[in-house]
Amino acid sequence: MVYCSNCGEKIADDAYFCPKCGTKTPIGKASKAAYPADELRDAFYQVGIELERAFNIAAHETHQAILKARENMQQKPASTQGTVVCSSCGTKNVSGAVFCNNCGAKVASAEESHGSTWKNECK
Ligand SMILES: [Zn+2]
Ligand SMILES: [Zn+2]
Repeated sequence: MVYCSNCGEKIADDAYFCPKCGTKTPIGKASKAAYPADELRDAFYQVGIELERAFNIAAHETHQAILKARENMQQKPASTQGTVVCSSCGTKNVSGAVFCNNCGAKVASAEESHGSTWKNECK
């Protein structure tokens, strides 16, 4: 019979953990038990394999999807559509940019800049 080093509870000689407080017994420490029961650990290990397999498939599919998306993007004609031109320095920024990538000036969004690219024009 072994006694728990933490709470003094009597523990079975082959137990890895104290049934009362969960403290690892010397046997548990020696066996490097990762969970209260080896069966549970094995179950987790099995699930881990399944998860890893599923993850690998998902990762592969995601990778394929990204490659396809990239192809689609490259097939689109490279036009100024989808870019916002900075009224301060003229740098083309990606659509939706709020601040200029080059000079940091506030860049009007595509909707806002519609018809008023040059703010000095009407003043
Ligand atoms: Zn204990
Ligand atoms: Zn700028």
